[in-house]
Amino acid sequence: MTLKRYREKRHFEVTPEPSGPDPASTRLSKSTPVTKKQPALKYVIQKHRASHLHYDFRLEWNGVLLSWAVPKGPSLDPAVKRLAMQVEDHPIDYADFEGVIPEGEYGGGTVMVWDKGTWIPDDPDVDSSLRKGELKFTLQGAKLKGSWVLVRTHGYGQRADRSWLLIKHRDRYAGTEDIATTQPRSATSKRLLAEIARAGGGDAEKAATGDPPVAKAPATAKGLGAPRTKRAAAATRKAAQRRR
Ligand code: MN
Repeated sequence: MTLKRYREKRHFEVTPEPSGPDPASTRLSKSTPVTKKQPALKYVIQKHRASHLHYDFRLEWNGVLLSWAVPKGPSLDPAVKRLAMQVEDHPIDYADFEGVIPEGEYGGGTVMVWDKGTWIPDDPDVDSSLRKGELKFTLQGAKLKGSWVLVRTHGYGQRADRSWLLIKHRDRYAGTEDIATTQPRSATSKRLLAEIARAGGGDAEKAATGDPPVAKAPATAKGLGAPRTKRAAAATRKAAQRRR
């Protein structure tokens, strides 16, 4: 695994994205099986309003973030299989990247750290699971938890080998909540895409098309419309109790 493709696609003098470790000084280590003593492996999903809205699903492995672009985002419903196209490995530092990639650059648009945490592979031999095209794991994120699987599809065409499905396993974290819509804010900054774009000098109007309409509802309309966030919902409930 290498960051060559990642670096080739980007101009680091223009984009704020991390360039990753210096290739001259760092050799990415060969795979070693996970043992209990190794530090937890990072997991992140970045919501990315580029030419199209998608969710970048990333798992730390072998000194890089293995990456898949999930157009519709993750689903908590085990009956729903979400297409996940494997893309170039990203540097570990990328897990903390939230901001604006200039228009005209690769992936130009707004990036949000939508979910963040750690992951545990079911089988410590992750390389073997990847070769077999079935990677089962547990997520310990702020939003996504429990058992999941990535399964390589037997599609056709040039990128058939890069095409996977992201599926939730049946467990207590499974459900029918449309989590991408109900929890649209950043796991780290709590901002919406439009807010990240505005702060980063990006195109807030374009970014806002990636935010769910309910999130943009005016907060001033007391008792009208759906509450914007869990916190807002709790405040609404409290206010209702006080009125009683
Ligand atoms: Mn992306």
